[in-house]
Amino acid sequence: MTSSTAFDLKLDAVTQRYKGAATAAVDAVTLEIAAGELVALLGPSGCGKTTLLRIIAGFVQQTSGRVVVGGRPIDELPPHRREVGVVFQNYALFPHMTALDNVAYGLAARGAPRAQQQAKAREMLEMVQMAHLAERLPREMSGGQQQRVALARALAVDPRILLLDEPFGALDKSLRLDMQIEVKRIQRLAGITCIMVTHDQEEALSMADRVAVINQGRLEQFDVPNEIYDRPATLF
Ligand code: ADP
Ligand code: MG
Repeated sequence: MTSSTAFDLKLDAVTQRYKGAATAAVDAVTLEIAAGELVALLGPSGCGKTTLLRIIAGFVQQTSGRVVVGGRPIDELPPHRREVGVVFQNYALFPHMTALDNVAYGLAARGAPRAQQQAKAREMLEMVQMAHLAERLPREMSGGQQQRVALARALAVDPRILLLDEPFGALDKSLRLDMQIEVKRIQRLAGITCIMVTHDQEEALSMADRVAVINQGRLEQFDVPNEIYDRPATLF
């Protein structure tokens, strides 16, 4: 993978109202993310972070607004055609499949020849430094190792955008710091545009090129970490 294929991502007044809800879960969020940039979505529980990721990935059809990747709206595309890789909060590895088969899954689903699937999956496992555990099942791996496999699986299909939903939530503090560095390294290596959700301010400020502060579904501030730290737009 090279950085020459990175895509920019624009959110244009994206709004989501769940049925029966009094307020919008995501409220007219407009955001322009440069190709190859890592943006952290920072905000408290319930502020709409996961909903926004699910809209970008295509699992939730937004009430209004547009999602544009590389200059093209993707709102009409089903999830599997959006070329968006997602690592969910709980990794969601298939428990009965080895690390290798988990990583190969997306390629298999696309009908790639088996030899090609396996070669690509091994390359991805090498990138996340998990090649030596390719035959392990998820239950035979630590949280950090499962996390790496989930990342390799998301990247195996060469997505244009990588979405990470609180990727370190289940890890203890020391492992978390290691994984923060590791994910940043891999994101740079892959040269991929990335949105990472977190409610941890330190994590957002240390990892992201820019931080988007979300509160009650609204974008409150979007800036480089230094500015967010020195000049928070709101008390929150
Ligand atoms: P976060 O990831 O920031 O914790 P979410 O996007 O999960 O926030 O949730 C934002 C708001 O939308 C919350 O009030 C939540 O209860 C509501 N919500 C999330 N998913 C659904 C759903 N499928 N149906 C109805 N309401 C939902
Ligand atoms: Mg969430």
